[in-house]
Amino acid sequence: MSQSLTRRINQLAEKYYDEMVRLRRTIHACPEIAFEEFETGKLVAETLEKTGLVVKRGVAKTGVVGSLHGKKPGKAVALRSDMDALPITEATGLPFASKNPGKMHACGHDSHTAIGLGAAMILSELKDEFAGEVRFLFQPSEERNPGGAPYMIEEGALDGVSKVFGLHVLAQAEAGTVGFCPGEMMASADELYITIRGKSGHGARPHHTIDPVVVTAQVILALQTLVSRNLDPFAQGVISICSIHGGFAPNIVPNEVKLVGTLRAMSDEWRNYAHKRIHEIVNGICFSARAEAEIKIDLGYPVLVNDESETAFAESCATELFGGDRVFRAERLMGAEDFAYYLQKVPGTFYRLGIRNEAEGITADIHNDHFTIDESSMKAGAAMQAYLAIQALKD
Ligand SMILES: [Zn+2]
Ligand SMILES: [Zn+2]
Repeated sequence: MSQSLTRRINQLAEKYYDEMVRLRRTIHACPEIAFEEFETGKLVAETLEKTGLVVKRGVAKTGVVGSLHGKKPGKAVALRSDMDALPITEATGLPFASKNPGKMHACGHDSHTAIGLGAAMILSELKDEFAGEVRFLFQPSEERNPGGAPYMIEEGALDGVSKVFGLHVLAQAEAGTVGFCPGEMMASADELYITIRGKSGHGARPHHTIDPVVVTAQVILALQTLVSRNLDPFAQGVISICSIHGGFAPNIVPNEVKLVGTLRAMSDEWRNYAHKRIHEIVNGICFSARAEAEIKIDLGYPVLVNDESETAFAESCATELFGGDRVFRAERLMGAEDFAYYLQKVPGTFYRLGIRNEAEGITADIHNDHFTIDESSMKAGAAMQAYLAIQALKD
């Protein structure tokens, strides 16, 4: 029976492929950035209603939640898609390229949305195959902190949900392949804003000043010991100071220097420890130089932790659907993703969908102005999400 179900799902993905392509291209041509996904949300809501789902609009401002119920009552599982585009000017030259200047679906969220809708269409024909509810989450703002996910959760999107699944396109993997990574998969991303204040004066009389430039040089180098001396060599973390601003003349010691950077961690434990150490290191060096520091750490997305057993479950579902040679082990990334918030609430997994096609020249990475996808990969994405939901509702 399972084999006939996988065959049916793959056939239904084929059946709805043209519709997914149409939806993806419509969304691609009209990209909307974080919390402005009004047209996209409208298209999503209307498509879900046409497909027979119960639809809630305006969740987390522009988000949409659709519920599809099986023939019998049961548990609920959630399938998530993100809808936002990026502030990038598209350079693909595609016939359905962005019509909104300075905005582009360069992270594949147009296809994530089309895949979510495709999965809804597939499952609407398979209501006899599952008990309970498949809840489709179409969220705003994955790209911009604080992310749409915490607001979706606050507004009840996960209420009663026992498992959650989501996918992201991957430009490095062949179209139609799917990749899984158990445990910590993506990093937390916090923003650092540090101001070092000294006392200005003549560059030729430094002993009458407190030179924040020299203090800054020490601080930047000392912060590198956060990873090299304060993190288990078998663990991962990054600190990068990416901006320094201070001073204006060759002979004037300035009053202050401002630093901006990013901190990435692969565990909450080290993330919290790193915050503490940043304060100690910066304040300690400033104290020794009689300078003062103001430190602000803006919290970004948390560490994304895939549930081990749900990841193994999803991997076995993929093997049943596509065969083992289309399944790969996904690498961990120091990038961040707000799907992490859902995984803090309920177990599930976030996995990769390959979209690369070198023969067709589809190789550009996400967030690049030439980024595009091999659309045939959407069949695998929709089939995968639909099959995961059915199988997850079984136990
Ligand atoms: Zn992105
Ligand atoms: Zn993305």
